[in-house]
Amino acid sequence: MEKTLSLIVPVYNEEEVLETSFSRMDAVMKKIGYPYEIIYVNDGSRDGSMKILRNIAKNNPQVKVRSFSRNFGHQLAVTCGMDAAKGDALIIIDVDLQDPPEVIEQMVKAWENGADIAYGKRLKRQGETIFKKLTAAAYYRLLKSMSATAIPLDTGDFRLIDRKVADVFLKMREHNRFLRGMSGWMGFDAVPIEFVRNERFAGKTKYTLKKMIRLAMDGIIGFSDRPLTLCGGFGVFTSIIAGLGLIALIVLACCGVKFPAWLWAVDGVVLLHGLTFLFLCIQGAYMNRMYDELKQRPLYIVAEELNF
Ligand code: UDP
Ligand code: MG
Repeated sequence: MEKTLSLIVPVYNEEEVLETSFSRMDAVMKKIGYPYEIIYVNDGSRDGSMKILRNIAKNNPQVKVRSFSRNFGHQLAVTCGMDAAKGDALIIIDVDLQDPPEVIEQMVKAWENGADIAYGKRLKRQGETIFKKLTAAAYYRLLKSMSATAIPLDTGDFRLIDRKVADVFLKMREHNRFLRGMSGWMGFDAVPIEFVRNERFAGKTKYTLKKMIRLAMDGIIGFSDRPLTLCGGFGVFTSIIAGLGLIALIVLACCGVKFPAWLWAVDGVVLLHGLTFLFLCIQGAYMNRMYDELKQRPLYIVAEELNF
């Protein structure tokens, strides 16, 4: 049977870009040649986006629209699109044309050559603020240094995933979702496709600073236990210093050296604080286990089977 493609496009207050964005994406999908569907997920837009989507859907049977009751956020909008997609490969792309639709052709080629994931790797970002460029570059590097999961640098959610990868996503129902991390956690054959990230076609970013911080936290908390071990390390360090101090004070006291009595108190307080940090870290380790269990991720993922 012929393979099919699903394009997943999250939309939040994007009336300025929707029509142009649709015609460019639709042209690329037509050119690629597989039967395809374009799934728009309207993430609770309060502007005219839904009206435009109704219009596009009316005239184009390949377009499907799911509309949220309110704004649930980009990661959940993409998840909803994945849940609905029927294709043998799914492509996730922003509606604002920052991810050039033409790159999809290369992603499909990589997929035809056997890649399970073809992810867009940003070589350059055009027309974004210095603040965004710097924070994004620093964040990806921080996350890489903190996380045991291989999450590629300078990579967003613009990617193609094979059906078997999508099926694993369907099984991962964790609420705080950081899709690029989940994808890294899964493994599979992932191929980078380099591209230059364009300026937004029109309108303003829908990722407010608050939403960006939230996503960044989801990435760090979901894919690193370093903050917990950091607290433990601090506890061990403080306890050792205070413990040595205590021994020194006892020795000095035994040798009859006079020193102010408040030194005992200071050392005691520091020691207790150190131990508290240590115990907090131990509690954290149990919480970490609980969090892991709660996520209910698959225990393992089989990529291929022979003679079964
Ligand atoms: N988006 C969404 N819900 C949100 C915020 C953004 O569905 O709460 C969509 C948005 O319409 C776009 C994509 O997610 O298709 C990326 O958002 P944006 O371009 O504003 O982010 P930036 O590229 O500035 O990081
Ligand atoms: Mg954008």
